[in-house]
Amino acid sequence: MVEKILANLKKSNCMTDNTFLQAVSEVLNSLEPIINSDSRYEQFAILERLVIPDRVIQFKVQWLDDQNRVQINNGYRIQFNNSLGPYKGGLRFHPSVTTGVLKFLAFEQIFKNSLTGLPIGGAKGGSDFDPKGKSDFEIIRFCRAFMRELYPYIGARVDVPAGDIGVGSREIGYLFGEYKRITHQYDGVLSGKPYAFGGSLMRPQATGYGVVYFAREMLAQELQESLEGKVCTVSGAGNVAIHTIEKLQQLGAIVVTCSDSDGAIYDPNGIDLDRVRELKEGGKRLSLAEYSHQVPGSIYTPKSEYPNEAHAIWQIPCFAAFPCATQNELTLNDAKKLIENGCIAVVEGANMPTTPEAIELFQREGVLFSPGKASNAGGVAVSEFEMSQNASMEKWDFDKVDRKLDELMRQIYKRVSLTAKEYGVERNFVNGANIAAFKRVAEAMILEGF
Ligand code: NDP
Repeated sequence: MVEKILANLKKSNCMTDNTFLQAVSEVLNSLEPIINSDSRYEQFAILERLVIPDRVIQFKVQWLDDQNRVQINNGYRIQFNNSLGPYKGGLRFHPSVTTGVLKFLAFEQIFKNSLTGLPIGGAKGGSDFDPKGKSDFEIIRFCRAFMRELYPYIGARVDVPAGDIGVGSREIGYLFGEYKRITHQYDGVLSGKPYAFGGSLMRPQATGYGVVYFAREMLAQELQESLEGKVCTVSGAGNVAIHTIEKLQQLGAIVVTCSDSDGAIYDPNGIDLDRVRELKEGGKRLSLAEYSHQVPGSIYTPKSEYPNEAHAIWQIPCFAAFPCATQNELTLNDAKKLIENGCIAVVEGANMPTTPEAIELFQREGVLFSPGKASNAGGVAVSEFEMSQNASMEKWDFDKVDRKLDELMRQIYKRVSLTAKEYGVERNFVNGANIAAFKRVAEAMILEGF
């Protein structure tokens, strides 16, 4: 049945939609142990319905640059599945954004949101707009134009977008401002807002901290290991990477790498996070090559030096690796190198950063591997906490959000690991996550009819 569904999907999606098919294939294939366990799945056509988005919204975004020239970008919102609650998922502004990329992200989001146990459905959106090198006023004009097209489709109980690559609290602030101007409504229609107006404390830290809370729990339960004193590698230098590095350092780990779209830093003395922040935060996005000029002993390797399906960052020996940049950034060659160098755990912070072949190798070789939909779910969970605070007009303090996040990440680990055991695939956290998430969504879809 899975093959038939994948073939139909290939027919209806052009070949540029590879990442979407990759994500669907991974999920459907991992559901094998459960698919025949309940006749209602077939009766209610759950798999067939699950792989088609509820709707794909595409629009034209027209804005003026600083030279008063008209610029045009594509804008999208994919509302994939709202069986468990309002659509929820980030907005990505990056030139690589296509319908295919967003469909993969929205599909993954259904399962991630289900794993949190919270009442949120799956969606994703964004634009092929490139924020790099744009002035603050250009970002404002783009965000306003984007929201003018998006606002009819979203709402606090309908669809609540958040940030993702290229969209941080600055962009969410501009988007929210325009939503308010158009609708005259001040409600929790976006999450990841600045704290000054409706944002939750800890939302910026949530994904990265959650990744490390998950890793700490997994290492303690599976191997009775801790992160203290261990060398770790992290890729990326954005929101998720920075907060993953910060929490790892707080727990005593030695993080020796970070990267961006042009290259990677290896700093054997431990990454100087303030330096990375100076280069990357507040929409600056300066090159990491600058880091190596400023920090003695650090080495910068441009991306062009690793053309053969391998990446400089994964050549560095480590105890645990945390891919936190983008999809398919850790390949089979990278996985071989990590294993050869003694890496015992790979914890995804980004969405689908590891290729299927690399995951297979990690699992075969007994490397603990956690899929992003489990280990990076802390971000969307704190977004849901923000929705709760907005709805009740409350403000929770930092410690309260942090405690709730830590507890939620432990629960996700437990859910994933117990499900893997129950279905005879112990320590296969990919299958554990997919099965646990699927069961919750499928039950809701059955109970809601069609
Ligand atoms: P940011 O835009 O803050 O940072 C992205 C980082 O990845 C930047 O350092 C960027 O480099 C780098 N990068 C982007 N494209 C590439 C590429 N093709 N090759 C190498 N590096 C690249 O995004 P986030 O940190 O928010 O997101 C990172 C990942 O985490 C994404 O997969 C996202 O979907 C996922 N995620 C994010 C959540 C969140 O709360 N923000 C929640 C859950 C998942 P440069 O500086 O050069 O642009």
